[in-house]
Amino acid sequence: MEVKKKNNHTPHYLVLPYPAQGHMNPMIQFSKRLVQRGVKVTLVTIVSLWKTITNKNLTSIEIESISDGYDEGGFAAAESTEIYLETFWRVGSQTLSELIHKLSSSNNHPPICVIYDAFLPWALDVAKEFGLLGAAFFTQSCSVNNIYFHAQQNLIELPLSQTEIVIPGLPKLGPRDLPSFLYKYGSYPGWFNVVVDQFSNIGKADWILANTFYELEQEVVDWLVKTWPLKTVGPSLPSMFLDKRLQDDQDYGLSLLDPNTEACTKWLDEKPKESVVYVSFGSMAGLSEQQTEEVAWGLRDSGSYFIWVVRASEQDKLPKGFVETTEKGLIVTWCPQLLVLKHQALGCFLTHCGWNSTLESVSLGVPVIAMPLWTDQVTNGKLIVDLWKTGVRAVADEKEIVRRETIKNCIKEIIETEKINEIKSNAIKWMNLAKDSLAEGGRSDKNIAEFVAALDHF
Ligand code: UDP
Repeated sequence: MEVKKKNNHTPHYLVLPYPAQGHMNPMIQFSKRLVQRGVKVTLVTIVSLWKTITNKNLTSIEIESISDGYDEGGFAAAESTEIYLETFWRVGSQTLSELIHKLSSSNNHPPICVIYDAFLPWALDVAKEFGLLGAAFFTQSCSVNNIYFHAQQNLIELPLSQTEIVIPGLPKLGPRDLPSFLYKYGSYPGWFNVVVDQFSNIGKADWILANTFYELEQEVVDWLVKTWPLKTVGPSLPSMFLDKRLQDDQDYGLSLLDPNTEACTKWLDEKPKESVVYVSFGSMAGLSEQQTEEVAWGLRDSGSYFIWVVRASEQDKLPKGFVETTEKGLIVTWCPQLLVLKHQALGCFLTHCGWNSTLESVSLGVPVIAMPLWTDQVTNGKLIVDLWKTGVRAVADEKEIVRRETIKNCIKEIIETEKINEIKSNAIKWMNLAKDSLAEGGRSDKNIAEFVAALDHF
């Protein structure tokens, strides 16, 4: 369903995500909601990334590319994270300027607004140089954004010395509930700078958009709106998994890796209802060899059916003999995660708690085994288990390894005991709230409409 604009004027927005699957997915989905409301959207991608993607289906969105300075190879070609980010900032600013200049000189709907990934705050400075509006899009939870904001404001003492961290809108947190870049201060200085620099120029942003929904993070959103022009616009999932108002919107429309769709769905179709554990640690994180081994034997010892996404680059970490002797499991290099989560054979999701995977589990009412690895995943895991109560935690030992017994016990607990009833009823409650939020007149739906209407005046 397309909402036609009352006048003939077609506003044009640029949308610039950080080049990673977990950042592109929600910003593409948000773009589709804008197109539905009569906006022309140009997705700004990165040269190196765009030319390697074979799975793309973004018919309603225009595409332009800028450079991160590594047109052959992208992030992997950089000498270090710090050098990549610094080069991207410099070359990205310059090539984004050139792109805006080119599009502004054309008579075909010059852009009026840049919606930029909050990981790329320099894009706001570029937008402002051209007199354009700027909207920051946060792809992480508002809880995590508020924690990073407090760190940026020096309101959290680093390295951490407190045993209890009190942040408005959030429950009391222990050091290990904070994102890993804070509790392991100094572990990834380049990424630490990225997450705190999100706020370096935030005062200049005309809007702040967040991929979450109000009910899910009500208290923290209520607190943040006092400070920021914040609008919650999520969950940014394909419409057919939520409100079903965009009939063609069945998937994200862009996959950096090839999904084994047929193998997964055929295998799932043959399994009993709610019997399968789906295991994925997302698009970036790599498990250590030891951790891979513990997950492998934990899955086998549980006796449950499982689908495990082990990316091609991780496959040589699988223990010898595991694949050959795995009778109840399917190992794939990538899968259509939403279809898997929605399948009636699915019992639970053993996840690293990336924010997209978290929102997808919430939106599809899937019970979770939370096994966060680093960055914001740690805090997301806390929210899943202690606040929303839609899952159990796979606790790591003192060597930071989640042992096979823990994995086996979590699976048994969630698939075989009565605890599942309480978790399931919570999961269904949140699923309904997620769907309501993007249904006509829901909070996120209204926020998107207000955002478009506000820009219409410029
Ligand atoms: N995903 C997928 N297939 C897979 C694994 C992941 O399509 O086999 C998608 C998943 O649906 C999610 C994204 O990749 O939208 C991963 O984002 P998330 O924030 O969960 O984790 P990240 O990859 O950023 O660590």
